[in-house]
Amino acid sequence: MNDHTAEALVVSCIDYRLQEAINNWISKNFSPKTFDRVALAGGVKNLDTIMGQIDIALRLHHIKKVILINHEDCGAYGEAGTPQKHAEDLRNAKAKAQEIYPELEVETYYLHLDGTFESIS
Ligand SMILES: [Zn+2]
Repeated sequence: MNDHTAEALVVSCIDYRLQEAINNWISKNFSPKTFDRVALAGGVKNLDTIMGQIDIALRLHHIKKVILINHEDCGAYGEAGTPQKHAEDLRNAKAKAQEIYPELEVETYYLHLDGTFESIS
């Protein structure tokens, strides 16, 4: 009974401060409204776990796209969580995902506490 599909997998931190901004952003950016969602402290910080979730979403729901969202002032990163570090981790996660799943579209964002999504490329 796995014939249902989803457009995307959305990965973000658990941080409650950001959920409203993320929900609003998803509402604006996903008209099909079909997405799987992972919330894990630190976003892509634990990349092995995230890769496992991407694999499952692909196998079960044939997702076309992964949205990776790290954010400003992330407690899981603590002092190490500079904007540069987040950008580096997001780029690394994107590269790894596309190396394993070349057809997968990967978008990466650094989410500011004011709700602004900064695209990382
Ligand atoms: Zn966080």
